[in-house]
Amino acid sequence: RRFATTTVRREVGYIVNHDKIENPQNTKVFIDNQLIESKASTWIDLHDPATNNLVTRVPQSTPDELTAAVDSAEKAFKSWRRTTLLTRQQIMFKFVQLIRRDWDRLAASITLEQGKTFADAKGDVLRGLQVAETACGITSQLTGELLEVSTDMETRSYREPLGVVAAICPFNFPAMIPLWCLPPAIITGNTVVMKPSERELIEITSPGAALIIAELAKEAGLPDGVFNIIHGSAPTVDFLLDEPRIKAISFVGSDKAGAYIYSRGTANGKRVQANLGAKNHAIIMPDANKSQALNAIVGAAFGAAGQRCMAVSVLVTVGQTKEWVADLVEAAKKLKVSGGFEPNADLGPVISPQSKARIEGLIQSAVDDGCEVVLDGRGYKPDKFPNGNFVGPTIITGVKPGMACYDIEIFGPVLVVVNVDTLDEAIELTNANKYGNGVAIFTKSGPVAAKFQREIEAGQVGINVPIPVPLPMFSFTGNKGSILGDLNFYGKAGLHFYTQLKTVTALWKSDDAAAIEKASVNMP
Ligand code: NAD
Repeated sequence: RRFATTTVRREVGYIVNHDKIENPQNTKVFIDNQLIESKASTWIDLHDPATNNLVTRVPQSTPDELTAAVDSAEKAFKSWRRTTLLTRQQIMFKFVQLIRRDWDRLAASITLEQGKTFADAKGDVLRGLQVAETACGITSQLTGELLEVSTDMETRSYREPLGVVAAICPFNFPAMIPLWCLPPAIITGNTVVMKPSERELIEITSPGAALIIAELAKEAGLPDGVFNIIHGSAPTVDFLLDEPRIKAISFVGSDKAGAYIYSRGTANGKRVQANLGAKNHAIIMPDANKSQALNAIVGAAFGAAGQRCMAVSVLVTVGQTKEWVADLVEAAKKLKVSGGFEPNADLGPVISPQSKARIEGLIQSAVDDGCEVVLDGRGYKPDKFPNGNFVGPTIITGVKPGMACYDIEIFGPVLVVVNVDTLDEAIELTNANKYGNGVAIFTKSGPVAAKFQREIEAGQVGINVPIPVPLPMFSFTGNKGSILGDLNFYGKAGLHFYTQLKTVTALWKSDDAAAIEKASVNMP
């Protein structure tokens, strides 16, 4: 069995197949530690991407609900910031334990709402869980600095929370990205208002995992109001950007939304960290371990149906390695495309019919530009899921910069292949790309890897590692067009994002002054 249904201990929303849900429940808002039925007049249907059956309806939270969430977070901040670090740490220990307990439940919610396979959804939870686990070490991460300036004077610095902070999340990692934000924000004493994903007013996706996380945080002992969840599209985002009580915004998503959120948020005086889109290149050198490299590239290009910001979406073959594409195609053909709960499914559907149409349109644009589609996943329909948004693994050769399939983030199971003659050309090509999220090189040569690592302009470099997402003791370090703002998610930078420095300079004279003298008015 791929997962044990006996570990399923909750009824609510825990579904482990793609059967039609007879009476889909509405998604609730979470305010003041309560799941509340929204009074929304606008609802957005959320479909199972494998079947397009209705899973739930998600509210466009009303203005009263949005305000109530911030009221609750503001009120909670007053007492939460005064709790001891050890109290917050104990809650985080419990929270980690509960995420582990309900790991399958979280993963099932992700597979149902977002489409990725159950095994991959477990990885989505894991990468967020690791951020929460790392936050448990806060007692040694938040120590300040102290300088004895003179025998009776010292200056010390420490980090204080900001207040109410907000997170605006994308559809593709329904557990990981909320967990990039929540643990570092609350362990440092902030309170949080979170908005899970919505897309283009067509559907809201994946709010289920965030709500389960909220429920687990409450069970772990998080006081009322420390974590709130609201829903909706642009009106909710604008509310968060303009509400003066919100001090910082964490955003992960597409370029357009990110640029808007960054400029409006910072114009309103908020801190904004924004992780955006990507076009991640993998360079394969002639001396690479061929099978290791091809396996890694197939996994990184097509896993999660290519809907990862760190997916490999461009393969740069150096010299003769262009002849390895035939083997790459054979390896990709072995992947099973099906509903995410199906045994042995390697990749599931893409998020929506609109996304499928967009991906297939970009594949067609490559054909129109004279490229060769050596593996074509368009129109793929698993027998059991004729109505899902499936696209099979697709590989396109003869691609060049300037073509839409190269320039645009496809965000689907599509790998475009560019051939160059030398490592220098591969570096030049990659550096000329506007994005700088992740990059990988496959080689057995230390000097080649060292040159690559030094000269490449991407924030996350993998050497024989296809998706080099750093563990949470480091930070997620995209650069160039893949990021706006200067403090990265999680790791030390994440703690700095959610805290502000205070310095205290203290003078403790050992003797009382003998007499009142004429005061000095000069800058000391
Ligand atoms: P998206 O931009 O459509 O949505 C992300 C969030 O922004 C949602 O909560 C949505 O409500 C909000 N939003 C969207 N359009 C908006 C608008 N016009 N005005 C105000 N708010 C708006 O992104 P998505 O499709 O959910 O996620 C996929 C994108 O996210 C890809 O580009 C992917 O590369 C990127 N991503 C980046 C990282 C990273 O760390 N760099 C990680 C995951 C995803």
